[in-house]
Amino acid sequence: MSKPRLATVWLDGCSGCHMSFLDMDEALIPLFEKIDLVYSPLVDAKIFPENVDIALVEGAVSSEEDLHKIQMIRDRTKTLVSFGDCAVTANVPAMRNPFTLQSVYDRAYRETATLEPQTPSEVVPRLLPYARPVHEVVSVDVYIPGCPPSADVIYYAVTELLEGRQPELSSKTRFGA
Ligand code: SF4
Repeated sequence: MSKPRLATVWLDGCSGCHMSFLDMDEALIPLFEKIDLVYSPLVDAKIFPENVDIALVEGAVSSEEDLHKIQMIRDRTKTLVSFGDCAVTANVPAMRNPFTLQSVYDRAYRETATLEPQTPSEVVPRLLPYARPVHEVVSVDVYIPGCPPSADVIYYAVTELLEGRQPELSSKTRFGA
């Protein structure tokens, strides 16, 4: 019988949620015996595949590339998990939201540049006007708050989902640390 297909995705986040995923340490071994990790920054897959059972999505939706990606991921995923505070509330990426896009670009690429200040028009994905939590863009099935969520919480949530249960997280995690 084929194993459940798990993916992890990195949108606009610092990768701290993925670091916490790796902090499961030896618990990763029995977990990976139960699942196929079909897409993740932790493996080499370049294209998000069809028929993913569970996708953990780290980070806010901040750029046109994020938007395209999360819509495609939603279409291809049974259970989409908002993974960490940046995905759940937009958190750190939303700190730019009170400012205009132009002032954000100017700050990043002109005011603080030491050589040839210029705003990139190629390669760097265009920002959306605001960084958004994932659920404002696509439907979300499970929320795991935390910055980052602890390894124990991630393990609990994923194993509950693999057992076909909705993880009860209200007493196990909170926003922030
Ligand atoms: S929730 Fe915290 S640890 Fe996770 S990506 Fe955002 S800032 Fe990083």
